[in-house]
Amino acid sequence: MTILTDGIIINERPLKDKDKIITVLTRERGVISIFANGAKVGKHSSATSLLAYSDFSLASTKGDSYVLKDAVPKQVFFRLREDLTILSLAQYFAELTYELAPREDKADAELSLILNALHLLCDGKKNISLIKSVTELRMLTLAGYMPAVECCCGCGCDFNEDEIFFDCAAGELYCEKCKNGKKLFACSPGVLTAMRYICLAPPNKIFSFSLSEDGLSALCDISEKYLRSVTRKRFKTLDFYKKMI
Ligand SMILES: [Zn+2]
Repeated sequence: MTILTDGIIINERPLKDKDKIITVLTRERGVISIFANGAKVGKHSSATSLLAYSDFSLASTKGDSYVLKDAVPKQVFFRLREDLTILSLAQYFAELTYELAPREDKADAELSLILNALHLLCDGKKNISLIKSVTELRMLTLAGYMPAVECCCGCGCDFNEDEIFFDCAAGELYCEKCKNGKKLFACSPGVLTAMRYICLAPPNKIFSFSLSEDGLSALCDISEKYLRSVTRKRFKTLDFYKKMI
């Protein structure tokens, strides 16, 4: 059976000779592994390189095993390679996608999210911490881990005070009254508005907001702590990115 889909390469592993296995976030099947015969060199090497966005023609053999028939690059994001910090963040997004995106299921929203994030990284106009936080929180939301941003999880109030508290382990928000001495992360109403926006805005709008420097710093801490708590995973690419900034 032949499958036609577009997708972005989120990992590549060399095999012997000129072969490699690529892991791709595809629109039609989510995250899949593809055996790419002779793709280390030759006409498919660019379309199957890490972070390339390509059109694929695949042979589906048995189970979830796929063999590359053809690949044509749609976008290769060359500018990522010009800056090691940007490249390390893009590689972190790829690792995040591998961890959280669906398998054997449609992944339009996840693909659109990572493509938008990479476009913005290449464009260089948006603060990269903002791009990172939005990608983390939205990817978590798409994976079913949207933080409970509507109201206080204790009393249901809509936070009339200036101090709001986020429980990074549970993804819950509390007002001052309901905090009950728990060790929570303090955030401002501006940060809460940004979190609500990232989780709930239409896909093409999620990066379109700004925050004060302090607000952005708090948002970064929150999204990263919550992500680590949900995935319980140490991302090597994130460690590398943090050494670069
Ligand atoms: Zn409360």
